[in-house]
Amino acid sequence: MPLFDQLSIRYKLVVLLGLSLGLGLCVSALVALYSTWAAERQSSLRALHQIAAIISENMRAALAFQDAQSAANMLAPLHTNPHIRYAVVESENGQLLGQYQAPGTTEPAALAWRAQIDQRPGRPGELHEAMERSYHYVIYPIDFDGKRIGTLALLADNDAMYAKMRQFFVLQGVASALILASLLLLSWRLQLIFTRPILQLLALMRRIGRSKDYTPVLATQRTDEFGELYRGFNAMLQEIRLRDEQLSRLATTDTLTGLANRGHALATLQAMATRAQRKREPMGVILLDVDHFKRINDSWGHAAGDLVLQDMARILQANIRSYDLAARFGGEEFLVLCDGADLAITTDMAERIRASVASHSFRLAGGQVLHVTVSLGLHVGSTAPETALALIEAADQALYRAKQAGRDRVEST
Ligand code: GH3
Ligand code: MG
Ligand code: MG
Repeated sequence: MPLFDQLSIRYKLVVLLGLSLGLGLCVSALVALYSTWAAERQSSLRALHQIAAIISENMRAALAFQDAQSAANMLAPLHTNPHIRYAVVESENGQLLGQYQAPGTTEPAALAWRAQIDQRPGRPGELHEAMERSYHYVIYPIDFDGKRIGTLALLADNDAMYAKMRQFFVLQGVASALILASLLLLSWRLQLIFTRPILQLLALMRRIGRSKDYTPVLATQRTDEFGELYRGFNAMLQEIRLRDEQLSRLATTDTLTGLANRGHALATLQAMATRAQRKREPMGVILLDVDHFKRINDSWGHAAGDLVLQDMARILQANIRSYDLAARFGGEEFLVLCDGADLAITTDMAERIRASVASHSFRLAGGQVLHVTVSLGLHVGSTAPETALALIEAADQALYRAKQAGRDRVEST
């Protein structure tokens, strides 16, 4: 069913629920219709029986005396019931004693009925009833002193029965339509129970797919499978967020010192330069190089050099503001980006770093204590993000001058 397959899950559920409820309704309507018809049929025949019983009771004397006139008189009041169309009284030997035809009954119709009554199955004189398509009749034996003296046949049309059935059919139809409409409403409510959580999940999935923002969560108090699905989805998002954080940490961090790496430092420089330009503020760049670092490596080994670099990172972190960035820029070279800092602030920061390093005791694994100095070059300015590297180049020139001037000092350009 390609059309059904294309329907949204909402309409699929409504169609399925509607179809099954509608089917149930049809079956129950048919059963009700059939039982009403059976009851109507029964009561029509019973009513005819009752009339036949009363007339038979009174017909005995007329039969016993073969009194055609009184037989006719007894049949005449039948016209008060418009549905009784034909009646006939015969004596036991088959002789016609009286006959009744409802007004408007044609002769051929009466003859046909008579023929129908005559051709009834079973033995003559036996109680018999029959329901045909457009009429029903009873043949009622009349006894006197335990002896069969004749029969009365009564025939009535089925118009009353069909009128009642039509009425019932219309009522049933209206009721069914109302019930079906409420069942469809109910189906719509029912489908929401299942589709709402699915569609909510789908909407969130689409939103995340578009925005790549994995922070939203699905709040739920549900304890059913949907609750489990929600919690599973939330856990998956949490996992993705953690991995994202891990990945970006790995991609932006220097593994030895835990500071920002060169790539991250350059990206931050661009962002800071943009912000500084927009706010018309300067920004400070400090480039720091360990003095005679090669000697440390040569004298104490590479591991000792690494330890010094790690201590150096801690000193840097301790001397910068929370919105500045300290990065390892190269081997034993560090970069500090000072957000919105003027020359005084930047120089002060650089000097603080220099003094902290100079006074720090670098303790090696073997217990030896080293004293290390650093040279710093700084530049304060503001530039377009595309030319932000020039800030570092300027700081580098200052650093060169600090080295030239004898190291363990701060120079600026
Ligand atoms: P200067 O005062 O002129 O800066 O002298 P310097 O010895 O510090 O300068 P140079 O550039 O000659 O030496 C830098 C050394 O840093 C060379 C290199 O072996 C070492 N180095 C670079 N990266 C690392 C590292 O990750 N760990 C260690 N232990 N040493 C490193
Ligand atoms: Mg160097
Ligand atoms: Mg050096």
